[in-house]
Amino acid sequence: MSDAETVERTMPESDVPTTSDAIDSPLLEVDGLRKQFGGVTAVDGASFKVAKGSFTGLIGPNGAGKSTTFNCITGIHEPTAGTVTFDGHDVTGLAPYTLAKRGLVRTFQIARELSEMTVLENVMLAPPGQLGESALRSVVPGLRERVQRDETEVVEAAWETLEFFEIDHLAHENAGNLSGGQRKLLEMARVLMTEPEMVLLDEPLAGVNPTLEEKLLDRIDELRQDGLTFLLVEHDMDVIMNHCEHIIVMHQGQVLAEGDADTIQSDERVLEAYLGGDV
Ligand code: ADP
Ligand code: MG
Repeated sequence: MSDAETVERTMPESDVPTTSDAIDSPLLEVDGLRKQFGGVTAVDGASFKVAKGSFTGLIGPNGAGKSTTFNCITGIHEPTAGTVTFDGHDVTGLAPYTLAKRGLVRTFQIARELSEMTVLENVMLAPPGQLGESALRSVVPGLRERVQRDETEVVEAAWETLEFFEIDHLAHENAGNLSGGQRKLLEMARVLMTEPEMVLLDEPLAGVNPTLEEKLLDRIDELRQDGLTFLLVEHDMDVIMNHCEHIIVMHQGQVLAEGDADTIQSDERVLEAYLGGDV
């Protein structure tokens, strides 16, 4: 059992840690993160921790630096300064592919090329380092059988994942024909196929109808109970306040406040940041 789990199980509810300092064994730790684009400082020394198994929300007015922070964590941008530690290892500046193999992933919008492929194909393509893609398959003895077995396993996993998100009836539909909400479910399904430890979601509910939104949030809650960790950027405050046990508020590239929903909602500085900002 990890320290975080021990703490969770032995502490009474009211004493559950709510500030980053109290997170003993974070799965993700961002320390002094800075990102400049020319003269623009998008992230200006942000530090925070994400507890293993938590559903943590990252909020803040437009331009606060949330997406840039995500991009620095997941290897899209090289940070100007600061460190990203995942599962105890310094992963600062590693490529998205390398991070995915270590269990840290973010959802991506379905690229144009993938919209021409079926939903099932999209999900099957997701796992990193699949043997089937390897040029070695024809030269290594016994690899053909292994590849075939692996492919069967991938197909099975793909169907299970589609069923989990209740989009299996769309398996043979081109991804490009899905509704906005169905596409979000597919993006989540693709990410899950990589067997992640932690998933970063940047506005996964934008353009999603209430029924699919409920479905997506239910799935996230289920996956969390299985031990997955989620970091979510989302504009819908009801979603953040109702689902995230820890909320980090960014403002002007820095962490302005953090804590549980009650703490954040009663924080004057947070209110001011939102009123002053272009929300
Ligand atoms: P948020 O996601 O919180 O709305 P962003 O991280 O997208 O904020 O942006 C933070 C600031 O950095 C904004 O002022 C934005 O204009 C700027 N910014 C973001 N990405 C770039 C970029 N690629 N080049 C220049 N400026 C950028
Ligand atoms: Mg953004």
